[in-house]
Amino acid sequence: MKVSVIGSGYVGLVTGMGFVKLGNEVIFVDVDERKVKMINNAEPPIYEEGLEELMGEFKGKYRATKDYHEAILNSDVTFIAVGTPSKEDGSIDLKYVKEASKSIGEALQEKEDYHVVVVKSTVLPGTTEEVVKPILEKHSGKKAFEDFGLAMNPEFLREGVALKDFLNPDRIVIGVQDDRTRKILGELYAPINAPKFFTDIKTAEMIKYASNAFLATKISFANEIGNICKKLGIDSWKVFEGVGLDHRISPHFFKTGIGWGGSCFPKDTKALIRKAEELGEDPIIIKAAVEVNKKQPLKLIELLKKHVPNLKGRKVGVLGLAFKPNTDDVRETRAYVIIKELLDEGAKVIAYDPQAMENFKRFYPDVGEKIEYVNSPDDVLRDTDAVLIVTEWSEFEELDYSEKIVIDGRRVRAAEKGAKIYEGVCW
Ligand code: NAD
Repeated sequence: MKVSVIGSGYVGLVTGMGFVKLGNEVIFVDVDERKVKMINNAEPPIYEEGLEELMGEFKGKYRATKDYHEAILNSDVTFIAVGTPSKEDGSIDLKYVKEASKSIGEALQEKEDYHVVVVKSTVLPGTTEEVVKPILEKHSGKKAFEDFGLAMNPEFLREGVALKDFLNPDRIVIGVQDDRTRKILGELYAPINAPKFFTDIKTAEMIKYASNAFLATKISFANEIGNICKKLGIDSWKVFEGVGLDHRISPHFFKTGIGWGGSCFPKDTKALIRKAEELGEDPIIIKAAVEVNKKQPLKLIELLKKHVPNLKGRKVGVLGLAFKPNTDDVRETRAYVIIKELLDEGAKVIAYDPQAMENFKRFYPDVGEKIEYVNSPDDVLRDTDAVLIVTEWSEFEELDYSEKIVIDGRRVRAAEKGAKIYEGVCW
């Protein structure tokens, strides 16, 4: 099949390259000239394991453009995978989705063949039918579900293992209304061996929010218990290993630490809270999950001050800036909150991350420009009074921590075993 993907970020690029691997031809569309150029040179504009190799292997089976007409006229199915960030007040910002829908609509006007538009971006229930559909209809002069197909297909991939997740998902959720669209998407996803869960469109939209809110709550719940465990001298990882053996609960996403960040949980929980409030509901569980998560990274500073009470002028190392390992994504990373607090306390921060230093500097100039970046984790260990572990990159397991005070937010076993003084956040 011929597929176009609007938005070549973490989800768009991985989804598109996943479809290429399954034997389809893909045209990527992005407004960012730099990304378009890089993709056409088979260079991934983001770091994601296996992506560079895949782009090299399938060169010629995909291309990128800024031109919607070229993409829509030369494909059968278009996925919208642009960002859906938060506005100041936490509500969802649909400006990229609206812009993309308008451009797709304009191109659809010229198209004679049946075309399917699929919303893959995370959008609140009702958005596809109440926002995307009218824009597409207005600019194409055509009717959804008759002249063109429209569906909602949320994405559940995890950054860091995104390609693997796209090709081996637990399930594929497809919200559709008309049979023709259902059949086309069924065919496109047929090579993937996973349950295909068909629903109506707004149910598919809600499944994504409910999943993310649940996972975020699961982690915050673990951290709440973990904080109690820490005071009682109990290893909370052992506790949740034991709890997770219950098949009703499952052991995944159940590790304590300094909480969740990234491009999804923070903005999706906020958007759902705002939506619920708009509807006159008070989502107290999700709000509590957010509240626990806000406080959790600062536990690391509390523990550090047990050993270094006055941080003024002290050199503190930070290992890890990405919001999780194996990605260069720093959106809502815990590192930002932690480093900001260290700087406010007068500490001098020396940081290292294998992939995310450039992004961190660019995304967070207020703190990013005040810290020293070094080229290896050994430099962090050599030149500092104490070290905080913020992201669990596997290379941090290879270091010699024997001379150091280490405060660990993620549980790096080498530090736990080898550090001169060691504190785990919830263990
Ligand atoms: P991203 O910011 O990495 O990528 C979005 C891309 O869209 C950017 O390259 C941007 O230049 C491009 N863009 C913006 N406006 C455009 C337009 N009008 N036309 C063409 N391109 C345009 O975002 P992301 O992390 O890939 O997330 C995309 C969506 O997928 C969001 O709704 C997100 O919630 C959802 N999602 C993300 C993840 C994840 O792990 N990142 C997982 C599941 C779902």
